Amino acid sequence: MSSNKSIDLSHHLNTLSRSRVPSPLKYVVDYMNQPGMISLAGGLPHPSAFPYNTVNLEVYSPDADIAPTSTKAKTTMDISVAKDISPDRPNNLSVALQYGASTGSKSLSLFLHDFAKRVFRPAYSDFQVLLHFGNTDGWNKVVNLFCEPGDYILIEEHTYPSSQALWAPMGCRGVPVSMDKDGIIPDALECVLQEWEDSHPGTKRPHLLYIVPTGQNPTGSTIPVERKKLIYDICVKYDVIICEDDPYYFLQMPNYTPVSDRCTHESVLPVHDESVIDGALLDALVPTFVSLDYQGRVIRLETFSKTMGPGNRLGYFVCNPLFSERLVRASEVTTQAPAGWSQAIVEEHLKAWKYEGYIRWLFGLRQLYTIRRDWLCDLIFSEFDVLPSPDGIPHDYIALPKGHGKRMDANPKSKYIFSFSAPKGGMFVWVQLNLNNHPKFEGIRASGEEYPEEKLETQIWMELIREKLLLTPGSFYSPVLGPNQRMKREKGVAFFRLAFSFETREDMEKGVKRMARVFERSWGFAE
Ligand code: PMP
Ligand code: PLP
Repeated sequence: MSSNKSIDLSHHLNTLSRSRVPSPLKYVVDYMNQPGMISLAGGLPHPSAFPYNTVNLEVYSPDADIAPTSTKAKTTMDISVAKDISPDRPNNLSVALQYGASTGSKSLSLFLHDFAKRVFRPAYSDFQVLLHFGNTDGWNKVVNLFCEPGDYILIEEHTYPSSQALWAPMGCRGVPVSMDKDGIIPDALECVLQEWEDSHPGTKRPHLLYIVPTGQNPTGSTIPVERKKLIYDICVKYDVIICEDDPYYFLQMPNYTPVSDRCTHESVLPVHDESVIDGALLDALVPTFVSLDYQGRVIRLETFSKTMGPGNRLGYFVCNPLFSERLVRASEVTTQAPAGWSQAIVEEHLKAWKYEGYIRWLFGLRQLYTIRRDWLCDLIFSEFDVLPSPDGIPHDYIALPKGHGKRMDANPKSKYIFSFSAPKGGMFVWVQLNLNNHPKFEGIRASGEEYPEEKLETQIWMELIREKLLLTPGSFYSPVLGPNQRMKREKGVAFFRLAFSFETREDMEKGVKRMARVFERSWGFAE
């Protein structure tokens, strides 16, 4: 591991964060822990007043077969957290359900620090791990660490809606950075920053980039490491903090191969392969932004939501010690440490699985999502005529109504309904609709609508809902540029996001068939 330390980035902290002081009660806790001390100081409820004695959990073995077509293997392990297992065992219910430091469980944090070192590999030595309540909480704390009302925040051209719904009411403004199928485009980022003084005279240049690097929500794009390096270097040059919100990091998949070119289910490796433990998974994952971060300017938001269940409400920051200390001050007066139940259960569970077991589980998830991604893409291929994209279309494939691809003339662009790429990570396929072909589009434009693409997108969305298929429309992810101001689309472009994470294969098939029916009718292709 690198021996260099993080640099001083304290000038990024906002007034609120600089002004926070530790609670005086913090000092009391330090004295309370001195041997022989009798404390009449802390207002702690006595554990005999907690109505719980023991929690027993049945947990799957980490190498349980989690392919969605079969039931989970029956190998289970009991994990128990009791009130007082032994006096020297830190993780017991008397401690877990008690007040404590806002940093949460020391032993869980140590496990995660070791995990972060081995898997996320920060490129500086003094990084810290700090527990939070999941990435929603993490992002809230990051915005409150850096942003002043009216600040500009760099965001992806299609962005995760809850992230901007947090800062928009604070009067902050999004600065969208153009994307292609591999995420934000480094040149576009550089251009925004380089031209800032001319394009936004008298305003503060953005100093925070919010980015979802893997299986981006909503576009499904995963940024390759070469591009991450370029983005990181630009952020160093213009002194920008990067917040990598990366809930889908472990849901990275091999490239998609259409059924016609596929031998077997070649993209899925055997779950029980022993090489999993010594690096097959890690080799298959694109390195994180923190792994490129030799200065400590990346805050990584890591969550258990997509790997252990969102209801755990548990995750952690990986960041430099200064930011971590300020985040602790914020946690002390807002959330405190994550819920004792979650911490205790996840800690016992991870200790039982150990690092190797957890890695095995994550590897299994990769298989699961690969199969699901292939289901959805295969279904799109079977319900539409799918062709490789001609030049000028920013995705791998175009989809035409069934039967039209074969009769295709020299100009497939005249008939395609949408374009898409098969994702290499996450839970989503993003389809870009070609409204220039839609019979209603010119009429809506001519009527003087401010956002004609969104108007038609909503109409098609309602047609899908009437057919009992629910997708999310692209307008949900439109950047907020300021109060009541949203980004305008390129002419004739609209989007839908399809999730392959939840429905059964049978329901996915019904859903894609409904989509084909609605699109063909809407675009006037139906007989
Ligand atoms: N407000 C007051 C007045 C308190 O005494 C305490 C606990 N000492 C709290 C808030 C914190 O409450 P909670 O544990 O529900 O966050
Ligand atoms: N960030 C992104 C990009 C997400 O897609 C999600 C969940 O959908 C979240 C954050 C929420 O994560 P958490 O459950 O950890 O708060």
